[in-house]
Amino acid sequence: MSKLGALQAGSRHDLHIDISPDAPDESEVDRGEGAFGYAHSYESSSRYDGPGLRVVLFLSGCLLRCTYCHNPDTWHLKAGTYVSADHVLSRLADFAPALRSLDGGLTISGGEPMVQLAFTGRILAGAKQLGLHTAIETSGFLGDRADDKFLANLDLVLLDIKSGDPETYRRVTGRELAPTLRFAERLAAMNKPVWVRFTLVPGHTDDPANVASIAKFVGPMTNVEWVEIQPFHQLGAFKWKSMNLEYQHENTQAPTPELIKRVTGQFQEAGCHVR
Ligand code: SF4
Repeated sequence: MSKLGALQAGSRHDLHIDISPDAPDESEVDRGEGAFGYAHSYESSSRYDGPGLRVVLFLSGCLLRCTYCHNPDTWHLKAGTYVSADHVLSRLADFAPALRSLDGGLTISGGEPMVQLAFTGRILAGAKQLGLHTAIETSGFLGDRADDKFLANLDLVLLDIKSGDPETYRRVTGRELAPTLRFAERLAAMNKPVWVRFTLVPGHTDDPANVASIAKFVGPMTNVEWVEIQPFHQLGAFKWKSMNLEYQHENTQAPTPELIKRVTGQFQEAGCHVR
């Protein structure tokens, strides 16, 4: 049993390693009640991860292995602090009046929030009781795990579609694309608001056909409010080095304004609102 700790204020750019060495493997299905879980850190004033001012809670655990991941220290549950959902919600309650007055709320990111589905669900339900807007940022890979009760406590899904071509998706994430598309279709069928996020990595995800297949898929979905193009950056490179992981992107450059313009145009031509 991991030792119960306190939620760490900080940043997604802080490096966390081996905080709970006896945590279970993240590939184990989360069948618990969600009273406890593993959290990397939280930020209290993001204006980037959903509408208004957000508290962003970063949970540990992810089954993907994106080659450009800027938070590889969130991959394993053992990198997170073992905390109770009640503790998380009591910290959140301190921020709730400000979040409500600034039309914001809670975004749970990671890692992948649906690795610890019950824990995430319990926090989302508590956030709704505090009167907060709720969101998760997810790859959608574990979308089949999300039951209707989980989705009912979600106001917005920030859905990372990392590639539209299955082969490219497999190459950059190590996993299959199909579950993400299936989850996106389910969210569209229930008219759940979605912001699609696409990380533009020159030489890896920028192929016009790859972008076009995402745009063609997302364009007709009226529940998709925004497509956000996220330019590749090197802010997470130091984590790969600190963790002795093989980093493929030493020489990958940030996308040029011309490339961003081309990709923006591809999404807009498909009928997407882009930012
Ligand atoms: S899904 Fe997110 S946290 Fe997981 S490997 Fe990819 S970028 Fe990293």
